Amino acid sequence: MTTLPDSDPDPTDALSALPSRDGSGRPSRGRLRFCYGPMDCGKSTLALQIDHNHARQGRRGLLLVRHDRSGEPQISSRIGITRRATEVGGDTDLRELVRREWVAGRHLDYLIVDEAQFLSPVQVEQLAELADEVPLDVYCFGIATDFRSRLFPGARRLFELADELQPVQVEVLCWCGAPGRFNARVADGEVLREGDTVVVADTGPGAVEKTSSTQWQTDPATLRYQVLCRHHFRLGDLGPAAPRHGQLRLT
Ligand SMILES: [Zn+2]
Repeated sequence: MTTLPDSDPDPTDALSALPSRDGSGRPSRGRLRFCYGPMDCGKSTLALQIDHNHARQGRRGLLLVRHDRSGEPQISSRIGITRRATEVGGDTDLRELVRREWVAGRHLDYLIVDEAQFLSPVQVEQLAELADEVPLDVYCFGIATDFRSRLFPGARRLFELADELQPVQVEVLCWCGAPGRFNARVADGEVLREGDTVVVADTGPGAVEKTSSTQWQTDPATLRYQVLCRHHFRLGDLGPAAPRHGQLRLT
């Protein structure tokens, strides 16, 4: 955790190129952190916990989300805690979003971004700029890899730029008991290897994200995700007696 600044910077200097300095004379910088893990590992719960911890210290933050599973602009955890958040669009300039807050007199100390894998690489670069220049502490939470085990573009840029990378410690287990690291997309008992990257699936009705380019090869109502270890992800082995407890269904 970084220490509180001695005084609030002038909001009109929000994105000034001039480095602000702390008492040591070194340029003061925010940190860009990426906490990542498979589905259902508690990322959103951790995001809300970090927000709570900062707010309790009197720090002011903004919660951002891209494609929340609830379909509402909020950070929702599967254990039932939710908080309102600002929805980030595909073309939202995050620097502009922060600048508007400052102009409105709402000074920010930190940003929390949930579902950060869906950010564009350019938006991740904007977060790095905010950490360096404002400075803000930026906490990103998300999934690293898609159902093909490939990095999401936003997650890739976070791996490249973040000051800190932190796997979320709550372990999600494969059916075999090994740590689950891969989100397999499943239809009709088969692990799918091709398809649209962005399909937000969950237990709630209407939670399917439909992109304009979506070409369903399979009826989305039959899609679900299952967390697997690498071994069983490679084999496409969903284990005995699927579906099992803890799996997510679209229907
Ligand atoms: Zn396994």
